[in-house]
Amino acid sequence: MKIGIMGGTFDPIHNGHLMLGHAAYEAFSLDQIWFMPNGNPPHKKSETIKSTAEDRMKMTSLAIAPFPEFVLQPYEALRAEVSCSYQTMEHFSKIYPDDEFYFIIGADSLMAIETWIHPERIFPTCTILATYRNEVKTKEEMNRQIQYLSEKYHAKIRLLETPLMPVSSHELRASLQSGDSVSEYMPAAVCSYIKQHHLYR
Ligand code: ATP
Repeated sequence: MKIGIMGGTFDPIHNGHLMLGHAAYEAFSLDQIWFMPNGNPPHKKSETIKSTAEDRMKMTSLAIAPFPEFVLQPYEALRAEVSCSYQTMEHFSKIYPDDEFYFIIGADSLMAIETWIHPERIFPTCTILATYRNEVKTKEEMNRQIQYLSEKYHAKIRLLETPLMPVSSHELRASLQSGDSVSEYMPAAVCSYIKQHHLYR
């Protein structure tokens, strides 16, 4: 199978995440997209992550439930340790040797990937789908970086052009805190879960 991996904090998950998953699925004829909420890195928890890994997994499950091609991948959220991408990807390649992985990352991550721990161990495990959104990086900058990484690491990297969806989790957290409506930016089931569990107050 061709499996796309969509990692994120998903705090909370929103329609931009779902659109990105759909775009990768369609553009590269993938069989599944795994939505993989990250864990609770101890050093980040209080400053940046506002809900537990369990809540973020539940919201992700609710958001992807209508789409059979989307699957919750709880591997990183359930690990006690901080997960590095190279470890996660090496783990998946080892336990699913017959599948092909497509690791979906944002433009900023592509530009910064050499600062990650052991980037050279990520490239052999997958094709990187780098999302290109004009407001983040120009196409020329992205293409230069792709050429550089391909030559240096024999990395397989493809551009994924996605429509602009002007929404982010931090904006939604701010709206929820001030009581503004967020219903046009996320599935109704996620909105209800947030209300029921008094998240982001
Ligand atoms: P925050 O605002 O808290 O930083 P976020 O909305 O950027 O969060 P993440 O969970 O950090 O969400 O993102 C997971 C992935 O989804 C990243 O690859 C990111 O580039 C992508 N992404 C986030 N928002 C959008 C969007 N509106 N349209 C397309 N892709 C998005």
